[in-house]
Parts: sequence; C-alpha cells; structure tokens
Amino acid sequence: MIASYIRDVPDFPKPGIVFKDITPLLQSAEGLREAIDGLAEIASGLSFDVICGIESRGFIFGTALARQLDVGFIPIRKPGKLPWKTASESYELEYGSDTIEIHVDAAPDGQRVLLVDDLLATGGTMQAAWKLVEKIGGTPVACVCVIELAFLAGRERLGAAPVHSLIQY
Ligand code: AMP
Repeated sequence: MIASYIRDVPDFPKPGIVFKDITPLLQSAEGLREAIDGLAEIASGLSFDVICGIESRGFIFGTALARQLDVGFIPIRKPGKLPWKTASESYELEYGSDTIEIHVDAAPDGQRVLLVDDLLATGGTMQAAWKLVEKIGGTPVACVCVIELAFLAGRERLGAAPVHSLIQY
C-alpha cells in the first residue's frame, strides 16, 4: 500500500502547506518497488519514446521508471543548471513565478515524451513542462505522477493532457 509510505508534514515549507514527504517510500525496498511497478503499469498503456522528469523528485521516479522500461531519460531543471543550449518556460505560483529549462536537443524528431513528477498540485509545473517539450519540437503524450492533490484541480488546468496518478488525496 503506497499511501502508507507517504508522510504528511504540516506547515512545511511554510505555514498552511501539508507537505507530502516521499522519503519513507524511497527508503523502503517494498515501497519503492510498488511505486515504480505502479508507474510502469500505467506507462504500459501509453505510447512514448522517452521519459522526462522534473527537478528534483521527478528525477528519482522518472529515471527509475525509464530504466525499468528500457527507455532514455530527459531532465527538466531549474534555471542555470543545464550546461547546453536551453529553452525555458515560466509559470505563475501563488506568490511570484518560477522557471524551468530543458536542453533544446532533448527530444529530436518529434519524439513522444512521457512527463513524470512525484506530485501534481495546481498543475502549473506540469503545464510548463508540457509547453517546454512542445517548444523544442517534442510531442508530450501524458503526465504521470505518484501523488495527485485532486482538491487543487491540477488535471483541469492541464486541459486535454492525459493525467495519471497512483494515489489521490
Ligand atoms: P504544482 O506546480 O502546483 O502542481 O506543484 C507541483 C510541484 O511542487 C511538484 O514538483 C511537487 O514536488 C511540489 N509540491 C507541491 N505541493 C506539494 C506538497 N503538498 N507536498 C510535496 N510536494 C509538493
């Protein structure tokens, strides 16, 4: 039961936020296996060439999933971290804005990209990642995450983009 490995941390990183801590899941061999197997089962119903993970917890699940499915992995990172030519996309947060970046040659020839993150909240991060993949000429096919905070309606924000999650709150 994956949900039993998720720890709620109230008021982190700021008052009023209940942070979903995935470290108990990662440190459990069983929890990690269940999570990656669950994501792999979702992915088996989707058609894609490569997995793209969003910094930083999307790297953990995205890379493990890519290895399990024998496909490659593309990192989407915070600004100034990627060494080659990048495309960037900014999105609004509750207070202020954020930016993410990808290498311009990460998904050549219209490669079909599966987006992976640990958690979907308002959907702003996933939406920006989706746009970013399109910007470099890739073809985003679906968004997959371990946890979905359904009460924040992230999937509505993502419109027609298919969204899959293992646990919903
Ligand atoms: P959003 O763009 O609002 O969908 O937020 C998603 C991103 O923020 C993901 O990369 C999550 O890791 C992180 N995040 C947002 N809310 C939480 C939360 N309550 N607990 C843990 N991570 C969160």
